[in-house]
Amino acid sequence: MASPTTDEKQSPAKRVAVVGAGVSGLAAAYKLKVHGLNVTVFEADGRAGGKLRSISQDGLIWDEGANTMTESEADVSSLLDDLGLRDKQQFPLSQHKRYIVRNGQPVLIPSNPIALIQSSFLSTQSKFQILLEPMLWKKNTSDPQESVAGFFQRHFGKEVVEYLIDPVVAGTSAADPESLSMRHAFPELWELEKKFGSIISGAVQSMFTSRSGKKSPPSNSKRRRRRGSFSFLGGMQTLTNALCKEVGEGELNLRSKVLEMSYSCDEGSRVGNWSIYCGPDEENKQQSFDAVIMTAPLGNVKEMKITKRGNPFLLNFIPEVSYMPVSVVISTFKKENVKRAVEGFGVLVPGKEQENGLKTLGTLFCSMMFPDRAPQDLYLYTTFVGGSRNPQMAKASRDELKQIVTSDLRQLLGAEGEPNFLTHYYWSKAFPLYGHNYGLVIDAIQKMEKELPGYFYAGNHKGGISVGKAISSGCKAAESVISYLDSYSVDS
Ligand SMILES: Cc1cc2nc3c(=O)[nH]c(=O)nc-3n(C[C@H](O)[C@H](O)[C@H](O)COP(=O)(O)OP(=O)(O)OC[C@H]3O[C@@H](n4cnc5c(N)ncnc54)[C@H](O)[C@@H]3O)c2cc1C
Repeated sequence: MASPTTDEKQSPAKRVAVVGAGVSGLAAAYKLKVHGLNVTVFEADGRAGGKLRSISQDGLIWDEGANTMTESEADVSSLLDDLGLRDKQQFPLSQHKRYIVRNGQPVLIPSNPIALIQSSFLSTQSKFQILLEPMLWKKNTSDPQESVAGFFQRHFGKEVVEYLIDPVVAGTSAADPESLSMRHAFPELWELEKKFGSIISGAVQSMFTSRSGKKSPPSNSKRRRRRGSFSFLGGMQTLTNALCKEVGEGELNLRSKVLEMSYSCDEGSRVGNWSIYCGPDEENKQQSFDAVIMTAPLGNVKEMKITKRGNPFLLNFIPEVSYMPVSVVISTFKKENVKRAVEGFGVLVPGKEQENGLKTLGTLFCSMMFPDRAPQDLYLYTTFVGGSRNPQMAKASRDELKQIVTSDLRQLLGAEGEPNFLTHYYWSKAFPLYGHNYGLVIDAIQKMEKELPGYFYAGNHKGGISVGKAISSGCKAAESVISYLDSYSVDS
């Protein structure tokens, strides 16, 4: 990011614009506000929360976007403590009972590597390949853009890719292992291979190193982190609602799609400011922000008009980002009609199982995880359809989706008859694909941050697509804004 160059008096008011009220933008806005800065959030939609979207209706509670998150990022832990959300955290019952379909039926996934070797989930040959990976793994000699499929196949073989990696990747990003770039989708494992070669040896050695180097938690740490996925009472939107409350309704501009932004800097002046336009006219101009945090998807940023010191700042260097379309289908069935209900978190469907007539990506057993989400006599299921596997199917009508979902649930769980209730939400751009050109995406983000003074980018296009990573990205952008503003206060 370019730093201010010429002398100027310090601007009296420090104002920051945040574009996008998804979880990354709201986390950034909250951090900035706590630091004492004036924050204004611009959100294109009529509601805040972005991909966190919870609905409560007729005794049912469901999520149409993210269903759970984890606390693997330190920023998430601090945020939950600071927002006082610990009492609202909801951990799923049977957290570790997760299923993957094999031969048309759900099979419990062994919860650790030893259990995996002992189970019959994989063939004997694949189990040997896992055990002998420290000796047998093959080096990548030719492909700097290697796919997730290629990487795992070199280490663990084809069956692991088809029956473990493929369903997990589809269930977390709606993508497929061939289209995802290993380096960008799983940077930690990519680095682990560079350092240790074998993934298994590397993971074991890193575990010992991190254990021996672990410091005791600081005395002000409020609570030990609980591992695993969780949601909140009322669903995931409880988190973004809490953030909105702290940021303040007055600072949140809904139905304010940012179309244009301009950076200006007076002659001889050391620092400039940003104007933001949510409409074509001057009256839509929101003046004088010292910095901007952009969290809109990069595809939307590309459509914006940016000017810098009166000249157009062309965004033609931003590459096309591919997005995965997904429909999220919520259904309920009477418990007595589900003949082979399994207890647990949910079931993932490998692409290969389409050969057995299955069409969905996976289903979460929401009312099993969180019994308060449906009346006692009902099961509430959330099923994902589409992704890179079947992009057209994501766009299907509700009737078609009903047919697809009921057929899969009948085969997998013995759900008979019609669902008591069914609704769906279609996300045309559910997840950005961290594909083979993702290096260009990162380069484009860095170029904007370098060449546009006081402009920072955060959100799920940078550093990971999970809720936790999006929060962390928002918090980091807020820290960068704070040091940027401090740097020109001190210098001036
Ligand atoms: C169906 C689904 C299921 C998921 N499940 C999980 C899960 O279980 N666990 C998990 O960790 N993650 C999950 N994710 C991913 C995770 O929810 C998202 O990656 C994360 O919430 C993204 O947050 P964000 O703030 O980066 O982006 P977004 O939530 O996309 O927010 C960006 C905001 O910018 C706004 N915007 C866009 N253009 C403009 C503009 N021009 N002006 C103003 N505002 C604009 C948008 O309206 C939006 O509100 C899921 C995602 C989906 C879609």
